[in-house]
Amino acid sequence: DKQLSEKRIREVMHAAYEKYRNTTGGANASYIPYLADIDPKLYGIAICTADGQVYEVGDTKFEFGIESISKVFVLALAMRDRGAKAIEDSIGVNATGMPFNSVMAVELNPRRAVNPLVNAGAMATNSFIPAASSAEKWTKIDDIIAKFAGRRLSVIEQLYASETATNQHNRAIAWLLYSYGRFYGDISESVDLYTRACSYGSHTRDLAIMAGTLANNGVNPVTKEAVIDEALCPKILATMMTEGFYDSTGGWVYHTGLPGKSGVGGGIIAIVPGKLAIAAFSPPLDHAGNSVKALKTLEYIVEELRLNLLDAR
Ligand code: GLN
Repeated sequence: DKQLSEKRIREVMHAAYEKYRNTTGGANASYIPYLADIDPKLYGIAICTADGQVYEVGDTKFEFGIESISKVFVLALAMRDRGAKAIEDSIGVNATGMPFNSVMAVELNPRRAVNPLVNAGAMATNSFIPAASSAEKWTKIDDIIAKFAGRRLSVIEQLYASETATNQHNRAIAWLLYSYGRFYGDISESVDLYTRACSYGSHTRDLAIMAGTLANNGVNPVTKEAVIDEALCPKILATMMTEGFYDSTGGWVYHTGLPGKSGVGGGIIAIVPGKLAIAAFSPPLDHAGNSVKALKTLEYIVEELRLNLLDAR
């Protein structure tokens, strides 16, 4: 694939970095106090190809909160253990078209169906993972995250404390789902494990490899370990294409034609099945909670490398 030569990938990645490194706009998430204090100038880009090459530029080893990007990989675990059909039936796979922490997304849907990539659905997905105890469930989460990343990630304890002290809204959403029979485990345990998974410290390179595993049929392209069944990848990617950027997912797909996922820590991943994955990180966010600079960066790289899946030229 001439478009995707090593040289071309490097060229475009570095061009994106130079083009956007001084871009301003947006603001760090402030509803989680820890995130408000991260240096807004940090900026990194990493690309992981399906054959395991990793390219990176900028602050790619800075550990930031993985936040909602964790939802993708916890979904992978729930799907592995419960099956893709059960996720569709018990959680939901349609777009909510609403913000990530929307209560109305639950209220207005006649079946109380949501999507595993919004807070409501992610907490329900967490509750849906079979485990004999909270400790056992955490071990499952920690193990699968480590396999996706190719190294064991650790929770940023300060971030976890900061989120736990301020997650009343999420707890309310979980109770609401529970009241409708759409929550599948202990509420405080599931909300806590959800919050803990959002508090993982990941760097841009980790995210590129995690996403690269989804681009490579569930096999980590760097460690070569099979993490999930290949048949689950298109299902996971479908949820990303539908809801990866919440109420701005349509705009994202309009520009890139790719499955992607953002987190309020400032990270964004995008996946080109069979080819590669891209991750970018910059803390300031737009109104929907997506990194302003990471969005621009990914859109530019997708355009320049012609990665849009909907573009047959
Ligand atoms: N932990 C954050 C929350 O629950 C994650 C939100 C996000 O990244 N969009 O609000």
